[in-house]
Amino acid sequence: MNIAIIGGGIGGLATANALLKKGFNVQVYERAKVLRPIGAGLSLTPNGLNSLNAVQPGIAELLIKAGSPIETMTLKRSTGETIASKPMEIMQKYGQPMLSIQWSKLQAILVSVLPPEIIHLQHRCVGFEQQDNCVKAYFAGGKTVQVDLLIGADGINSIVRQGLIGDKFPSYAGRMSWRGVTQYFHKQLSPNVTTLITAPDGKNFMLMDVGGGFTFWGAGALSADDYVYERTTDAKTRVLETFAEWAEPVEAIIAATPKADIVERPICDRPPLKYWSQGRVTLLGDAAHPVVPSLGQGANMAFEDAYELAECLFVAPNIEAALNAYENSRIPRTAVIYDCSATQGYRAYQPDSETTFTKMMKPSQMSQNDFEAWLYSYNQYQSS
Ligand SMILES: Cc1cc2nc3c(=O)[nH]c(=O)nc-3n(C[C@H](O)[C@H](O)[C@H](O)COP(=O)(O)OP(=O)(O)OC[C@H]3O[C@@H](n4cnc5c(N)ncnc54)[C@H](O)[C@@H]3O)c2cc1C
Repeated sequence: MNIAIIGGGIGGLATANALLKKGFNVQVYERAKVLRPIGAGLSLTPNGLNSLNAVQPGIAELLIKAGSPIETMTLKRSTGETIASKPMEIMQKYGQPMLSIQWSKLQAILVSVLPPEIIHLQHRCVGFEQQDNCVKAYFAGGKTVQVDLLIGADGINSIVRQGLIGDKFPSYAGRMSWRGVTQYFHKQLSPNVTTLITAPDGKNFMLMDVGGGFTFWGAGALSADDYVYERTTDAKTRVLETFAEWAEPVEAIIAATPKADIVERPICDRPPLKYWSQGRVTLLGDAAHPVVPSLGQGANMAFEDAYELAECLFVAPNIEAALNAYENSRIPRTAVIYDCSATQGYRAYQPDSETTFTKMMKPSQMSQNDFEAWLYSYNQYQSS
């Protein structure tokens, strides 16, 4: 079967590897001129790591070496006091860590297991057309590719999704985010620690060790306005202004991050869909189920999708049956994660955010523990 993946993001790359391992002929079409990290860093959880490892045994170990397994989570106020601190124990419970890693390192490892000739850069898909026996993908500049199956892994503003579903723009969640990564030393930054800093005025700041002396920081603030691109100040000035006067090391680490390495993005999602596929076209990753990043599950879900889609295509008698099985397995789970992410994301920016985060840190929170077990223990691979 010939398969085209639109989008060479982390979901598209992981899917290409999963499909190649099952013997399919896969090509990836990416609009960018070069594969650049589109976020500074992120956290991978056992469900995502197990999905990658089921496709490529040993890849989780490579990622762990390149990143930093988080052992302690600390909660602080913007004024500097520590509210709570807890050991993560994710590795002990789920066999894989909560791993924070630089985006560039994750991307490089995902690329390193693929034959370079299957990645076609500067290919911006502009639409597709289905026929009885094939699907044609059209690209800016006039190129057309004809395949048996088209996978839209082209992110939250997916053109493939527009062709299938036509639901236009994502919903803005009322929050702006900034992310950066920099090599920065400070007595308050320790290896294998994530620190979440919160304030009652709708702002949060997170600091994550990502290994090698690098720290990934992520900031979020309520903002009525999601239109960032035509402002006169740059993103670094905006985030510095937003977090001015927060206790050390917040301002210092933003100041130490090169302007060009700060990513500013409105936080958006889309409500869950009832279907992701039609005929010979399907969706994956953020194109299928974009969520707000409060649980850190977007990329992890894309890795689950990649494994599952390849399995379904390998086992099912035809494309229709495979895509049905893929949707049946993935839509209910991703819809639950959408709901929890949306609720958690909303609460994290309310005036009582400190109470919300403190509750999450308490071991007595059974519902939190049960949810965590359901989320991170996802492992459909043991029998395959
Ligand atoms: C602030 C923030 C923090 C986050 N933190 C985490 C985290 O800690 N853990 C986690 O798991 N997730 C996190 N996420 C979510 C994660 O970044 C996404 O879920 C993940 O990147 C989705 O991967 P994807 O490949 O589906 O889409 P993307 O990463 O968006 O990749 C899509 C690719 O498609 C390409 N493309 C788009 N349109 C076209 C076209 N027409 N033709 C060809 N190519 C095209 C793009 O250039 C891009 O390379 C976070 C997100 C945000 C905003």
